[in-house]
Amino acid sequence: MKSISILVPMLNEADVLPLFYETMERVLRDLPDYSFEYLFVDDGSTDGSADIVRDLATRDPRISLVVLSRNFGKERAMLAGLDVAETDATIIIDADLQDPPSLIPKMVELWQQGWQDVYAQRRSRAGESWLKRSTAHAYYRVLQSVSRVGIQEDTGDFRLLDRECVLALRRYRESERNMKALFSLVGFRKVALPFDRDVRAAGGTKFNYWKLSNLAVDGITSFTTLPLRLSSILGMVVSVAAFVYLIVIVVKATLDGGDSVAGYPSLMAVILFLGGVQLLSLGVIGEYIARIFSETKARPVYLTSEVRLGTPGPSVRRP
Ligand code: UDP
Ligand code: MG
Repeated sequence: MKSISILVPMLNEADVLPLFYETMERVLRDLPDYSFEYLFVDDGSTDGSADIVRDLATRDPRISLVVLSRNFGKERAMLAGLDVAETDATIIIDADLQDPPSLIPKMVELWQQGWQDVYAQRRSRAGESWLKRSTAHAYYRVLQSVSRVGIQEDTGDFRLLDRECVLALRRYRESERNMKALFSLVGFRKVALPFDRDVRAAGGTKFNYWKLSNLAVDGITSFTTLPLRLSSILGMVVSVAAFVYLIVIVVKATLDGGDSVAGYPSLMAVILFLGGVQLLSLGVIGEYIARIFSETKARPVYLTSEVRLGTPGPSVRRP
């Protein structure tokens, strides 16, 4: 019997956990030929989410719980889960039921057909603002155009990963993580499964625009060094233009008879423009140096304060 882990990163999801578990159970009962394990990763919740899971675990031996010592962010929480998943496949799913568990049977079916990374692809995003939708779309476009590997558009972390993918992902231990980038980087046979994304069942989003924009920058800088290349190219273009302009000025000054002091506006424009370009390039370099800085310290990606492992078992179908 093949075994599957349901990996659930959670941060303050106490309101929705019982409903989540109930909904999952209903879905898993329709898959009697597999044994399942729940793998909850508590990412520093302060609302007793872990207690709810501990309580569920007393009744259900298939529940594993990993408690991180503080909030490390969803990206690292997912790695913590992958590190303990010993099953044949792992399904990563949000606790808030925005990723419909009803998709799981289809995912498993595609996995059985030989696909190793079955990722759910959003057809629509209910309840998300126009701003969030359009920034997300623009971000995918940028990421796609700067990277050499294919990026899956409108794809989150909701997916089924074959054991081989899980083992591969475990080897990427950078601390500035962007799972979306890593899923693409590891490769393997991928297939999309389209779905409509629901609004949250309870609670509010844990991601604000600040967190999202940090994630976006991490995504780009962990994928590609193209921004560094761009700033060198920009530097070259500006230098050539400046050189041409220099010749123009010298020739004009000579024709004018050698003394020309006018030109304050153009002088200002050039200085300000160059200053801007330099600061921008410095910033780009700084982004990468910051990344080197944090990776060279080789700090652990996450710390756990409790690991409690269950055993995978079949979900019994009710008559
Ligand atoms: N999450 C987490 N750590 C964090 C932020 C979020 O484990 O620092 C979990 C959260 O509990 C949820 C999932 O990641 O299960 C997705 O978070 P959320 O629903 O807030 O994101 P959104 O759906 O708004 O993108
Ligand atoms: Mg959500």
